Amino acid sequence: MTTPPVKIVVVYQSLLGIYGDQGNSRVLAQRARWRGIEAEVVFAEPGTPLPDDGSVYLLGGGEDAAQTTAVRELKADGGLFRALDSGAVLFAVCAGYQICGHSFTIGGAEEEERAGLGVLDVTTRRGPVRAVGEILTRWSKPDGSQYLLTGFENHGGYTTLGPDATPLARVEVGFGNNGDGTEGAVSASGRVIGTYPHGPVLARNPELADHVLELALGRPLEPLSRAASAHAGLRTERLAFVRR
Ligand code: GLN
Repeated sequence: MTTPPVKIVVVYQSLLGIYGDQGNSRVLAQRARWRGIEAEVVFAEPGTPLPDDGSVYLLGGGEDAAQTTAVRELKADGGLFRALDSGAVLFAVCAGYQICGHSFTIGGAEEEERAGLGVLDVTTRRGPVRAVGEILTRWSKPDGSQYLLTGFENHGGYTTLGPDATPLARVEVGFGNNGDGTEGAVSASGRVIGTYPHGPVLARNPELADHVLELALGRPLEPLSRAASAHAGLRTERLAFVRR
């Protein structure tokens, strides 16, 4: 039986594209292709219908005002909600993570609350200090295996998880959700994942990329040995840098 193509939808680069997180789409597509699985990357923009037949949806980082616009457009479109109802995977970074929650706040002294998409049980409020810098976390994959995740965080919002979300990882170096030692959030279904690190995070952390692909494909993937050896040197450098 042949594996159906993986359709990766990069959502609203014009709004949530300032941190280079669209690189996550290239990593997912390439890691699928290296395994002989066809992959298609679609860039969706406001004003045209968001495809609702995607396998993986990607949201990236952006500025406060753009977050509000992205929520308004996504709610008006409805395609993302239909896709999630059909079992699609949503992988969201920073601003994208924040808008997945029930609400987030924007602005400085005059903080204003905005409604989010409500697909992840989290809320985000401005914190007293912006979290900026390298971040290192420990991720426990649902099968129990553990991996160190590296990335770069840059956010003024502090995120609190509700009972229907579990932390993606535990912070070893850096700030994470709100300083409580947790980083990111995963929905009860496991199919909506939010996280703060940029990098792009899936380029820095191939195991997490493969986890997203495995969720989308509904089956485990065999490891990629040639990519792993190329990645090992970079990983050593990153770990030395963040722990220095
Ligand atoms: N505007 C949001 C914040 O500062 C998200 C920033 C980002 O995406 N890096 O919290």
